[in-house]
Amino acid sequence: MSMYEYRCDQHGSFDLQTSMGDAQPRTACPECGLQVPRVFTAPMTSSTPRSVTSVLDRTEKSRYEPEVVSSLPRRPAHQRTPTAPANPALQRLPRP
Ligand SMILES: [Zn+2]
Repeated sequence: MSMYEYRCDQHGSFDLQTSMGDAQPRTACPECGLQVPRVFTAPMTSSTPRSVTSVLDRTEKSRYEPEVVSSLPRRPAHQRTPTAPANPALQRLPRP
């Protein structure tokens, strides 16, 4: 759902919540019922969570300025090497 702003000449502006893309260019004023025009405003990006903004910014940056690394990332201490598979048929296969 998105908020869209409409403005009545007599009663001022009001917001209407509707599905994105379903906003009509004109709607009825809740006080006088006249058809009033939609007003285009900046999107409310300040309500976007910081984590989402960070990921979007990093993704956009990687398009033209990818991060370059000089070594592999360190393996976590808790990660073990793979063990023999549980399936007995696969355990008979040669291993390195
Ligand atoms: Zn009105």
